[in-house]
Amino acid sequence: MNTNSEPTPADAIPRYRGRFAPSPTGPLHFGSLVAAVGSYLDAKANGGEWLVRIEDIDAPRTQPGATDGILRTLEGFGFEWDGEVVFQSRRLDLYHAALVRLQLAGLTYPCSCSRGEIAASATRRSVDGGLLYPGSCRAGLREGAAARAWRLRVPDREFAFQDRIQGEARQNLEREVGDFVLLRADGQYAYQLAVVADDAAQAVNAVVRGVDLLDSTARQIWLSQCLGLPAPSYAHVPVAVNPAGEKLSKQTQAPAIDPAQGVGLLARALRFLGQPVPTEAKKMELADFWRWATGAWNIARVHAVRAILAE
Ligand code: GLU
Repeated sequence: MNTNSEPTPADAIPRYRGRFAPSPTGPLHFGSLVAAVGSYLDAKANGGEWLVRIEDIDAPRTQPGATDGILRTLEGFGFEWDGEVVFQSRRLDLYHAALVRLQLAGLTYPCSCSRGEIAASATRRSVDGGLLYPGSCRAGLREGAAARAWRLRVPDREFAFQDRIQGEARQNLEREVGDFVLLRADGQYAYQLAVVADDAAQAVNAVVRGVDLLDSTARQIWLSQCLGLPAPSYAHVPVAVNPAGEKLSKQTQAPAIDPAQGVGLLARALRFLGQPVPTEAKKMELADFWRWATGAWNIARVHAVRAILAE
């Protein structure tokens, strides 16, 4: 045991710990494969660990059987994760404890507003494209109104952070997002709270994910600060879009990927991520492909753009 108070080099540079956190709303598609490949190679190339977390917290959107399909597909493509797969649906106590801490610190407030009331009073759009919550319940619930949701107060200041791919990003939470929901009216914990609580509890210190979540990052940094938790580093990879410019997703009928597509599809994901792929790589066995791709990975080559057309 190290009893010396001087930090050892190992303490000074914590081991890289990344993760892939799919929501089981359907089978994996090319866009999710890109996020999986980017997060996996960045972890492996940095001598780090790579965790898989199933984000099944949003029960109404979770599709039966999707989790098994996702894990089988990852395995089939030769991804090797560290430790047990974690399921958000089994960690409600952790999210509850985080919410209680924020409530006790006076950083949250109950909100009685229905969608209709927000639509009637909102004057601006939020960065998500929805209506920016105008803070109607900030100073307290109206007489006789019942709490439906819990919101986090956000400050009127700019959050700036350095994204490892997209460069400097800035967002003013009050002007662009508004006080956001932590516990929804349907009793579900919000994604923003769960992801921050989980990344910290799992000691994840490097997040690589799709750029569609870049606009959530300031919220997550603010939540980490409110909870006194360290925030990870962030790298947002471009999202894959179809010829209509829509993000590949279940809603846009993106085709499911199949391990039978083998290294050919992995090579496509790597090219999408700006990495040159020699012809020989496409003929490799999976294990050799991953060994080669880990050695060749260079995050600086990933294009700093929001969207790229999937081939
Ligand atoms: N579960 C989210 C998704 O599938 C990803 C969350 C994250 O990587 O922070 O879009």
